[in-house]
Amino acid sequence: MKITFLGAAKTVTGSCYLVETKSCKFLIDCGMFQGHSKEISMNQAPFPFNVSELSFILLTHAHIDHSGRIPKIYKDGFNGAVYATKATCDLCSIMLPDSGHIQEMEADWVNRKRERAGKHIIEPLYTFQDALDCIKLFSSIKYGEAIKINDEVKVRFNDAGHILGSAMIEVWITEKGEETKLVFSGDIGNRDIPILRDPSIIDSADYVIMESTYGDRLHEDKTDKVNKFIDIVNETIERGGNVVIPSFAVGRTQEIIYDIHKQREKFEGKLEKLLSIPVFIDSPLAISATEIFRKNLDCYDEEARKYIEDGDNPLDFPGLQFTKTPDESKALNDRTDSIIIISASGMCEAGRIKHHLKHNLWRKDSTILFVGYQAIGTLGRSLTEGAKKVKLFGEDITVKAKIESIDGFSGHADRDDLLAWVSKFNKKPKKIFIVHGEEDGMNTFSKLINEKFGIETVIPDMNSSFVINANHAIESMEKPEVSYQFKRLAIIDMLETLKDEFNELSEILKADLKDEKEDIEIDELRIKLKNLERQMVDVLR
Ligand SMILES: [Zn+2]
Repeated sequence: MKITFLGAAKTVTGSCYLVETKSCKFLIDCGMFQGHSKEISMNQAPFPFNVSELSFILLTHAHIDHSGRIPKIYKDGFNGAVYATKATCDLCSIMLPDSGHIQEMEADWVNRKRERAGKHIIEPLYTFQDALDCIKLFSSIKYGEAIKINDEVKVRFNDAGHILGSAMIEVWITEKGEETKLVFSGDIGNRDIPILRDPSIIDSADYVIMESTYGDRLHEDKTDKVNKFIDIVNETIERGGNVVIPSFAVGRTQEIIYDIHKQREKFEGKLEKLLSIPVFIDSPLAISATEIFRKNLDCYDEEARKYIEDGDNPLDFPGLQFTKTPDESKALNDRTDSIIIISASGMCEAGRIKHHLKHNLWRKDSTILFVGYQAIGTLGRSLTEGAKKVKLFGEDITVKAKIESIDGFSGHADRDDLLAWVSKFNKKPKKIFIVHGEEDGMNTFSKLINEKFGIETVIPDMNSSFVINANHAIESMEKPEVSYQFKRLAIIDMLETLKDEFNELSEILKADLKDEKEDIEIDELRIKLKNLERQMVDVLR
């Protein structure tokens, strides 16, 4: 068989792996690339295989960076089954149409500009309707049941404890009477995630394809995390500002609600301020997703189930309000009291959160509190890295609000938990392919696996293929034809970054304008810029 890494290879988003056996082709995940315009343009590129020859897709979980290109592949002619757990099917039935809606809105925005410039208009990646239509391909699979998909392929989904319905997938492939077992970790959950069960332990594999998002980092301690959360909220209320929490519509939002609810009893006294102000969940998607959480109680851990048996709803508390209509959402910006707004998307790339940032980033008294992973190239990442100015709806917004992050709410296992997961294999894998991470983190994590367990690791390149059987995995020299015909976009992206950096430098100098004293640094800067100017003349030519 052959496996080709078509996404999340040396990057975090766009999860997509093609497996080709003697008689069938299938994908594990079909996710969207997120981040810079280069990544976004990669979503537009055609799939580097004949889509109609694809037999089925195994989907680890509903997050858009794992599921977001399913409507596109459907639109391109894929008509096979998408196997996923029931909760994943339920979540995709709201998340994919929502993504389609975002694709249409973004295409509209670009087209208005293109029309003014007399250029031909572009099509959205897919529409709301494409996404609704593709849901008929979804077929639900129970956790823990081994299912024979065809004569060659058998699969089993195990709870990954990452978001509701998330799975790590065991795949057994029989070719010429020989069985090879692959394990796709999907995203591995954080052990202490409220509501969800801990990630499953898998005891054997020939090859593992494993995520490494937090491969070189440790999460903050749980009690510290809760205390920090309360402190940040209290300080913001004292200043008279709002707390804006960009949160994934699915998962983090429900967990934060649950955490606030739990802390209510634990931290009485410290919580008075927090509980006295209204908390708004401002994301239509989060509202439907909360409904889906309520409908899939079988995925809950014991603690959460006990709450429900005791007649308590862990996803609700007094003061919690859901804003449904855009008007209700806009009205939040006219309020003069302090409020907490939880809104999607978590990386600030789309959705209502962008409006709340526009109204709060410039306010010294407000806080933007990040509780999830921020991929390179996203607005969320720029903010957590200390950007002084950002662009929202074509407008420059100065960042005056306090920017805070709490790591412990992450849905991903940290370095030690990832290593603990690897340590549980009774039958040591022959190789671990490390995916879904940033380059530095992957290198560190790869070394740790070599040293601790003596297991060989590979960090596959994008579009690289490996020929695999039960005994060996050899990199194949032939690469699929991939046409990323969007090279210009990548250059525009570089220019935009440079422009931002120059603007920032100019702001620093402006602030320093009256300082007349001799300054070697400033002289050096002038010489460097002179040289750059000469090179620019060449570039422009
Ligand atoms: Zn995920």
